[in-house]
Amino acid sequence: MRLFDTHCHFEPDDAGVAAALGRARQAGVEKLMAVGGSPGLNDAAVAAVRQAAGNPDSAPLAVCALGFDRDQAGCADLPPVPSGVEPAAWGEIGLDYHYSPETRAAQLALFAAQLEEARRRDLPVVIHTRDADDDTLGVLREVPSRGVIHCFTGTPPFARRLLDMGFYISISGIVTFRAADNVRESARFVPPDRILIETDSPHLAPVPMRGKPNEPAFIVHTCRFLAGIRGISADLFAEQTFANAEAMLGTETCR
Ligand SMILES: [Zn+2]
Repeated sequence: MRLFDTHCHFEPDDAGVAAALGRARQAGVEKLMAVGGSPGLNDAAVAAVRQAAGNPDSAPLAVCALGFDRDQAGCADLPPVPSGVEPAAWGEIGLDYHYSPETRAAQLALFAAQLEEARRRDLPVVIHTRDADDDTLGVLREVPSRGVIHCFTGTPPFARRLLDMGFYISISGIVTFRAADNVRESARFVPPDRILIETDSPHLAPVPMRGKPNEPAFIVHTCRFLAGIRGISADLFAEQTFANAEAMLGTETCR
C-alpha cells in the first residue's frame, strides 16, 4: 500500500522530524505535503521538505504548502517564499468562525488576498473552513480557485457545492471518532475521484492512536477506516487517494 498524507504540520525546530519521516516511510507513506499557516509553521514545513530531500531512502517525498491561516488575520503582508523553495500549494488559508468570529472581516480580507496570490502563482489552495460555509462559498465565487478543502467536517450539501466548484475534499482522522457520524456521512458522499486523506498532524490522531501526538505514519489508520465505510479495499482506496493528490497538485515530483 502506498499512501499520500496530504496535510501534516511539523513543529518549528522539531528534532523529531527525521524520526517521524522515517516511521512514515515504514508505514507506506511515499509522499506527504507539509503545510504551513504561520511564520513558524511555514518555516517548519520548508525545513521538513529539506530534511526529506536529504534522506530520500528513509523519508517520503515531501512537498510543502505555504500561507497564512485565519490566526494571522490582520497581517499586512503575505508570507514570503524562501529562495529555492517552490511550494506545491498555497495554504493553509481560510475562515474559522468557531474559534475566532470576532476577526471575521480581517479573515475574509486575508483569505481573498491569498486566493488571488495562489492564482498569480498558478497554485492549488489548501482551505480550512469551520462554521463559515456561506462566507467560504461567497469568497470562492468571487475568486474562482482550485485545490482542496482540508479536514472536512461539513455537511453533504456543503460538500456538494464545493465539489461542483471543482474542489477536492480531504478527510482527517476525525472520521474515526465515535461521535463523528456527520463526518462519516460526508466521507461516504464524496466521489472516488475527489477524495483525499490527511493526518493534520500533530493534532487529531485517529483511532486507535487517539490521545497520542499524531504523525504522518498514522494516515494508514484513517485510510483503512475510510475504505471500510466506503466498502472497498484499503489498497484500492490508498491508490485512489494517492492518484487524486497527485492530480490535485498537478505534478509528480514537485518539491
Ligand atoms: Zn492544518
